[in-house]
Order: sequence, then structure tokens, then C-alpha cells
Amino acid sequence: MDYSKLVEVYEQIESTSKRLAKTHAISELLKITSDEDIEHIILLLRGRLFPDWNKAKIGVASKLVLKAIGTSTGASIKDIENMWRDIGDLGLVAEQTIAKKTQVTLFQQNLTSDKVFANLQKVSTMEGSGSVDRKVQLIAELMSSAKPKEAKYIVRTVLEDLRVGIGDGTLRDSIVWAYMPIEINYDSEKIAIDVDREEFNKVVEIIQTAFDKSNDFGVVALAARKGVDALEKISLIPGNPIKVMLAQKEVNIDDAFKRVGVPAVIEYKYDGFRMQIHKFKGQVKVFTRRLEEVTKQFPEVVQFVTNNIAAEEFIIDCEAVGYDAKSGKYLVFQHISQRIRRKYDIEALAKKMPVELNIFDILFCDGKNLLKETLEKRRAVLEKIVTEKKFEIILSHKLITSSKEEAMLFYDESVKQGNEGVMIKNQEGIYKPGSRVGTWIKLKSTMDTLDLVIVGAEWGEGKRSGWFTSLALACVDEDGTFLEVGKVGTGLKEKAEEGLSFGEVTELLKPLMKTEKGREVTFKPEIVLEIQFEEIQASTNYSSGYALRFPRVKTLREDRSPEDASSLERIKEEFDTQKKS
Ligand code: ATP
Repeated sequence: MDYSKLVEVYEQIESTSKRLAKTHAISELLKITSDEDIEHIILLLRGRLFPDWNKAKIGVASKLVLKAIGTSTGASIKDIENMWRDIGDLGLVAEQTIAKKTQVTLFQQNLTSDKVFANLQKVSTMEGSGSVDRKVQLIAELMSSAKPKEAKYIVRTVLEDLRVGIGDGTLRDSIVWAYMPIEINYDSEKIAIDVDREEFNKVVEIIQTAFDKSNDFGVVALAARKGVDALEKISLIPGNPIKVMLAQKEVNIDDAFKRVGVPAVIEYKYDGFRMQIHKFKGQVKVFTRRLEEVTKQFPEVVQFVTNNIAAEEFIIDCEAVGYDAKSGKYLVFQHISQRIRRKYDIEALAKKMPVELNIFDILFCDGKNLLKETLEKRRAVLEKIVTEKKFEIILSHKLITSSKEEAMLFYDESVKQGNEGVMIKNQEGIYKPGSRVGTWIKLKSTMDTLDLVIVGAEWGEGKRSGWFTSLALACVDEDGTFLEVGKVGTGLKEKAEEGLSFGEVTELLKPLMKTEKGREVTFKPEIVLEIQFEEIQASTNYSSGYALRFPRVKTLREDRSPEDASSLERIKEEFDTQKKS
């Protein structure tokens, strides 16, 4: 397909915030996409080169893109840098530089989407000596045949900052509109559709189920074209992580019981971090909640599951809780979070601060997909295959009850043990990847926090010069757009020994810098912080429409990806609950 067709769709989507208009634009593109192109078109639509289960990065620095623009246009690096400083978006810089150049270019071949995809894939996998020059060449080659608007999106894709919001729900619906056997009449003036809702929900569910299992919209789109049979054949593949199920929040047992029904399963809510562990073909792979592979960082986990789980192939869901090997005391998340990113002395750190796996779910076992089985059945499978061993593997401590009094006692006991509260689950509930459905409820004892993404900062002054201060924080809307909710300056330490420091955060942020004007800097959204706050207020100062009162940094959440940050919806809910109480 001509890359220009994809660019037209990017432009349409960028110009609207209406989900139906986006869905229409994408579905029209999908209708004219060939089988060969479908998988890469689906990826490029969201500025990606890999499906959701594969967290590989393109990993190209802005400096390299600058060079590529220079090489392909003949413009001087100095001029490009100056433009970049003025405009603040290298995509726009590329667009304008190419626009000047094309006035003198007579013959130009049309750029195809698969050429863009192929070159960028090569860029993302290239390593070793000479790879930098080769990467510049590959990007410059695309620029040389790109029209100005095409150059803008190539650059934004390379920098993994497409700025075109397409959420999972929009992409899923676009596949439905394009390929499923259902009549949908779209009214472009009213931006509304006329459709049999019941039928529509049914086909949406078929596509959603296929996505839940594959975590790959390319595979789903290709199967959708072939028909429902092909969609149903899609299966979970141990080794490819899927999205984790999430919970909704309640503030008391009565409301939680109302939501999930009784008898309910109540489990300790352990305070560690989520791990999805896969075993297949004699191999074990460990993933964080953001589906990043961390097998190397957790050698003991590989041992524990190999020794204590009697199945050849499985996908389990659990909370890894750290403890001090000497004292046997459990540690809070802040202490063990360093293990996630540790690249050296891994074995020593694992010995000093091992994790205990608290298993609460199983999604696949020896060839059988368990997503649609009830929690009761999934738990029974776990009980059959797991041999519990303290400080290695245990099954989540649970109680099944309809009694509020029993539930309260269990909650108190859980908090006394140092846990965060309890999870209250529907016994009949299926496993819904990526969803916050009401079959899992969390009830917490600790003050609620938000997970927010750093999108900007100010260079510090005086004692804090050389550090980023006053960090601008954002939540995420359903299309993946980051919206600011305030600035935070407290909670970070000046000395690294005292905890998460300005210096440490500055080092993490430096490679993510996008623009710099005076002291103001913006960043590619990547780093997630857990933030405590006193209250949420309505505000016109920030793009989310809300502001945090007295925000304070609690910790760095390297287990969260920016898309996992607190949603705008969550902030709205929190605001409404506050008003009520
Ligand atoms: P929180 O900050 O409250 O952990 P969250 O946004 O990370 O919220 P939620 O789905 O809201 O995630 O809360 C569930 C989290 O609690 C899970 O992601 C998991 O890491 C943790 N957890 C601890 N114990 C359990 C359990 N028994 N069952 C399910 N999740 C558990």
C-alpha cells in the first residue's frame, strides 16, 4: 500500500477527538488493505513495529534522526537543530525541511508502507559496530522518497512518539466495522452509527476474545477477514504474554459484595508486584505487568516454578513479594523494585532479597486455555499442580464467605500481616485480560495513590541546578493521550542514599527529552511515578481538567508502562467519590 494512504488516516485521526470518526477512518483503510499488508498496517497505525506482547523498542535517539534528515535533504545539522529548538517537534522539522527540498526534486517514487516497515524493523534490530551509520542510512533512504507529511510520521514513528491517539477499543471496533458480517451505517455529519446493538456487541466480543488470547491485533485482523472460524482458532501461546486482569475499587465490604455477589472469594492483597510466568517447551519466562520480560533478573523464580509446579506448560498470574533473606521479613515494593531493572550482580541481589510468589490465577495449563473457566475451576487447577513452600511459592490465602463479619475479620487479619487489604472476587468470574471488570474488587487499607507519567519538568536552580524539578504529571485517556494533572516537587530526595532522588530521576529523563525552552523541558511519556495526594480538584490549568492538591512522589514504578498509568476515568471517579463523601 502507498504510505500516503496511511498518512491520510493519521491526519484524519489527529484532527478529531471523536472515537466514531476515528473508527470510520481506520476501518475504511482496513477495507482496502491486502492480506500481505494487514499486520504491518495495524502496527504502523499505532506507530509500532511489534505486537503488544513484544515490548522490543525501536530505540533511536533524536540525534540520529537529525543526521538522517540532514543526509537526505542536504540541510545543515546546525539549521535543523535551530528549527528543532524553535518548533519542538522533529516530525514537523522533517516535514518542513523536505518541503523545501521537494521543490527541486523532479522524479520521486511512491513510498510504500511495507518499505517503511521493513527499513524501520532493520533499524530496530541492528547492533554492533557501524550500526549507527547504517541506521542513519536506512532512515535517510525513507526520507529521500518521502513527501513532507510522510516524513513527519516516519520521524514520529522512529522516535516512538506518533501523537495519534488510537486506543485498543477503537482499533478493535475498526476491525469489526471493516471485516465482520454486520451492517453498520455511518453518518459522517452527525458522527453516529445505525446498527443492531445486540448483534454489534456479539461481534465485538468475538474480536475482543481473539485479542485477549493473542494480544496481537494484526493476527486478529487477518483472522477476521477469513471469518469467525479463523478467529476462534486463535489460541493463547505460552511465551507470548497477555494483558493482566485488573480490579475495580470499593470502599467497604457491603458494596464489594453487591458488586461480585456472594459467596465471594476473598484473598489477601499482597504488596509486591505483578508477575505473569510462562512455562513452555522446557523454558520459563517471567513478565512484569507491563509485559516486559524480566526472566534474567529473577533466577530464583525460574527455580521455584520449575521445582514446585507439576505441569509442562502453563501461564500463571501472581504477586511477587520481596523479603529479606537474613531476617525473613517481607519488604515493601520500594525495596524490591530495584530488582526489576538490575543488570549486574543479579544473583547476589536475588540471594539477598528474594521474592516469594503468591499465586492467585492460572490462564493456561497443559494445552488448555482456562480464560473462560470460572475462578473456582482455575483455582482447583492451581491446587492440583502447585506444591506450596513458604518463601518460594504459595497460593494466595483465601476465604470463601457470604458473611460480612467473617470478611471483616479476614480483612483485619490481612492488614495485620502487612498486606494492602483484600481482593474480593466473584467465584464464577472468568479471566478478562486487560479489563477492569467488576468481578474483581480491591479493598485497600492504605491511602490511595495514582500512577502518573512524567511529561515535563523545569531545570532546577541554585542547590538543585543540573536536576529536573517541578515534574509535570499526566494521566492517560482511553485513546492513549497523556493529559496533565499537575506538577510535583516533593517526595524526591537530594541525596541518593535517602531514596528516589532528583539525580536518579534526572538521569532517567535525560534520554527522553523532546523540547527545551528556557528552563522548561518536555519528555517522551515513559517514566511512571506513584503519587500520593490529598485531594483531586477541578482545574482549568491542566489539560485533564483536574489538579492534585499536595501531590508527593511515593516511588518509581518500573513495572508500569505509560499506558498502564491511571486513567482519566479513574481520576473522574476519584473526584466524584470525594465529592460524595
Ligand atoms: P493497585 O495500585 O491497587 O495495586 P493497580 O492499578 O496496580 O492497583 P489493580 O487491578 O487495581 O491494580 O489492583 C490489583 C493489583 O493487586 C494487581 O495488579 C496485583 O498486582 C495486586 N494483587 C495482590 N494480591 C492479589 C490477589 N490476591 N489477586 C489479584 N491481585 C492481587
